[in-house]
Amino acid sequence: MERPPVIHKDAGSQRLLPNWTEYDEERRRFSWGKARLALQGLPGGGLNIGFEAVDRHAGGVLRYQTALRFVRRDAPALELTYADLARQTNRFANVLQSLGVGKGDRLFLLAGRIPELYVALLGALKNGTVVTPLFSAFGPEPIATRIQLGSGQVLVTTDALYQRKVRQMRAQMPSLRHVLLVAEDGGVTDEPDTLDLATLMAAASDNFTTVETSEDDPALLHFTSGTTGTPKGALHVHGAAVAHEATARYALDLHRHDRYWCTADPGWVTGTSYGIIAPLLQGVTSLVDCEEFDAERWYTLLAQEHVTVWYTAPTAIRMLMKGGPEPVRHHRYPCLRFVASVGEPLNPEAVWWGQEVLGLPIHDNWWQTETGGIMIANTPAFDIKPGSMGRPLPGIDAYIVEHLEAEGEAPRVRVIDTPDVEGELALKRGWPSMFRGYLNNEARYAKCFAGDLYLTGDLARRDADGYFWFVGRADDVIKSAGHLIGPFEVESALMEHPAVAEAGVIGKPDPMVGEVVKAFVSLKSGFEPSETLRLDISAHARRRLGAAVAPKEIAFLAVLPRTRSGKIMRRLLKARELGLPEGDTSTLESGA
Ligand code: ATP
Ligand code: MG
Repeated sequence: MERPPVIHKDAGSQRLLPNWTEYDEERRRFSWGKARLALQGLPGGGLNIGFEAVDRHAGGVLRYQTALRFVRRDAPALELTYADLARQTNRFANVLQSLGVGKGDRLFLLAGRIPELYVALLGALKNGTVVTPLFSAFGPEPIATRIQLGSGQVLVTTDALYQRKVRQMRAQMPSLRHVLLVAEDGGVTDEPDTLDLATLMAAASDNFTTVETSEDDPALLHFTSGTTGTPKGALHVHGAAVAHEATARYALDLHRHDRYWCTADPGWVTGTSYGIIAPLLQGVTSLVDCEEFDAERWYTLLAQEHVTVWYTAPTAIRMLMKGGPEPVRHHRYPCLRFVASVGEPLNPEAVWWGQEVLGLPIHDNWWQTETGGIMIANTPAFDIKPGSMGRPLPGIDAYIVEHLEAEGEAPRVRVIDTPDVEGELALKRGWPSMFRGYLNNEARYAKCFAGDLYLTGDLARRDADGYFWFVGRADDVIKSAGHLIGPFEVESALMEHPAVAEAGVIGKPDPMVGEVVKAFVSLKSGFEPSETLRLDISAHARRRLGAAVAPKEIAFLAVLPRTRSGKIMRRLLKARELGLPEGDTSTLESGA
């Protein structure tokens, strides 16, 4: 089927007027100072994420609105209103105070998507305590390493996770003063050297005055996904709330009475920034699915929970696409209004899938753990060019730059003004959710900046209309016979083949041309690997990309190695291909 080059901005749902429709006008009007006025601030003039997300609403008209709705497979849904959340987070902050844990101390969270995790995160923020959520599927070693690196003083986890993953490592975490356990059976835990959280909560007062924090006080420490190497700890401040509030309005089109579902786990920055904080700042009802991915369950939830705004990831969308269009068409989604995706480049096929089966295009957006919030996005204010990550949000200035420094020197860059030239994506510093440091690694932090530009490590190009197109991570770009080849372009072309579910592309060293393009593909259900199919995919790629860019080798894999947050780990494909050490695999999805 012939598809037009753009999806018109009005092609989606017309159910509600979008938050904005005029891109240039809004960018002109915008300033971060004005965006700050959407928040209340603390009585002493400071700013605190927990207060803004919870107490601001609990003291107003949204008091009885459901803030969080937890859905579980074998139990009824559990809801917390903004008032409930205010009381519970106050209790948790009082628990921390009673343990002598205060402002600037570090708390780690290790749990599935249970209410206690949300309460602890927000309560700790109100107490000025710096929070690090960890992914609950991490093994003992990555957990201990991160707690040790971050000098964690408090850990909140469940009794089962503690017994399986933490107890045996406790001696390696000398900074850890308190372990607070949630009993998974709802009872009381009596594990030595730990405290029972429910008992402490029951004894705590539900009145608490938020600790005075400033916009520059640390709030969260997030570890990156580990896609390109050892995960880095990125430090974020309370002022980030200003960016979370604004970007949720612009890039997710959140309106006050939305029923919003972010599918990311709070163990990753998306699951915290846009799974907990941003939706609460907007006063919406957030759906939390306590279960793991299951296509049929997801379609049912979207329909039955009347989800209006859905924020998910390319891997999830590709997994849904893999199942074909039938399951999605078993349901109707009359409430769904806006769909967005982040984490990896979103192949044009996936954008079109949304348009064709949901009647809504998928809005790709780009950001990183380091940027703390969405920076470049497809929004309701302009047409979508499928395959592009959109345009910079108000308050964000993005550039394509070229490096000028010699090997080993501090970065020096030149901005490339000409459209359609590939270079590193850079952002002008000054947005409030920008990270303020890498944990214990000042040199690495310093290397991220050239003057007032933050260098993202991603390669992209900007077209004449100001849309940005992701090319690849600087580490993943393939240099072949004088060409620079972005893996994303090759992967997207491969995915257009009817048999291909997912593709990961690497450069394989070659004495003649530097590197040759090698593709690893997994197949959609109903297709089996065969020589005929390999030749067919190869011919398709050559037709689409030309012989210089099309993969020279194609291998079939049942699953591609990816991080637990769903990103294809090309560095692992490469290490395995070349028989090299795999490096840090702490975030690798098991079985991949
Ligand atoms: P590490 O830095 O440890 O290697 P990571 O970069 O994957 O891991 P994150 O901060 O979670 O860790 O991911 C941010 C990166 O994900 C971006 O720099 C970019 O490479 C990729 N990314 C995120 N969203 C998009 C998108 N919409 N299009 C293309 N790439 C994206
Ligand atoms: Mg990164």
